[in-house]
Amino acid sequence: MPTVEEASSPTVVLESPDIGALESQENSPPKQHPEGLMSEGGEETSSTTATAAMKLEDATSSPDYGGDSPKTIIRRNRPGTKLADFYQWPDLALEDMDTTLAVQQYIQQVIRRNPTDVEEILSMPANQDEGVWKYEHLRQFCMELNSLAVNLQCECTADTCTQMTATDQWIFLCAAHKQPRECSAIDYTRHTLDGAACLLNSNKYFPSRVDIKEQSIAKLPSTCRRVYRIFSHAYFHHRPIFDSFEDQTSLCRRFTVFVLKYNLMSPENLIVPIPGVHTPPTVQGSDYKPGETDA
Ligand SMILES: [Zn+2]
Ligand SMILES: [Zn+2]
Repeated sequence: MPTVEEASSPTVVLESPDIGALESQENSPPKQHPEGLMSEGGEETSSTTATAAMKLEDATSSPDYGGDSPKTIIRRNRPGTKLADFYQWPDLALEDMDTTLAVQQYIQQVIRRNPTDVEEILSMPANQDEGVWKYEHLRQFCMELNSLAVNLQCECTADTCTQMTATDQWIFLCAAHKQPRECSAIDYTRHTLDGAACLLNSNKYFPSRVDIKEQSIAKLPSTCRRVYRIFSHAYFHHRPIFDSFEDQTSLCRRFTVFVLKYNLMSPENLIVPIPGVHTPPTVQGSDYKPGETDA
């Protein structure tokens, strides 16, 4: 294997664009590893999972030629990078992102710049395929909703929330089973996010991330409707968790603007109020009956 070298910054600037050499770069400062550089085998073993996860999120690197000599900026958080140093690399224009993950990379870049700037995040670049744009945003929502699920499971358990509800109007059935059935709220959350991940990664419906068939795009509204219930359960049953997550991410606001903009959900199903964006319909009076739905 090539020699492991040190670099002081997470934005690794290398003289050589040789990707084989880049793969073995170690960018943690020595003080983070008091034992010094571990053997290559040990380092690789301990970081395999983290590295794989990072590659899924931002598996891109692009050459950036500047100054007197060619330099390569690696847009990747290497194992050992401090949280404060995550994503410390310069932005890249969408047209300069030459990978099949360019749209995801672009969306994540705009979110990192300012997660509360929903309008900017959802502004589709010119000449972008709208189906791919919607698909990549929904993927991103599902990834970020996993963080809300992690926060929820501190207090949302099969004992505290035996059914998936938001208001008293509906009990939502979990569609992740052969026959839709009642799952506890936290199980509904896990099963629905797993189901969404399976669908969005399915080779049958989404074999490509640059060219998506209309029939596959037609799968997106039902996924939106199901994952939205995670927001509404959190809002009506775990308000402090919802509020603190929303303060940091504006995720429910972004989701609401997204589904309204692209007609992916009917406004009457959006029951979390988003100031300046959406006011939910008032709950019907005495003529409504509680019911079950997997719609
Ligand atoms: Zn709950
Ligand atoms: Zn279930």
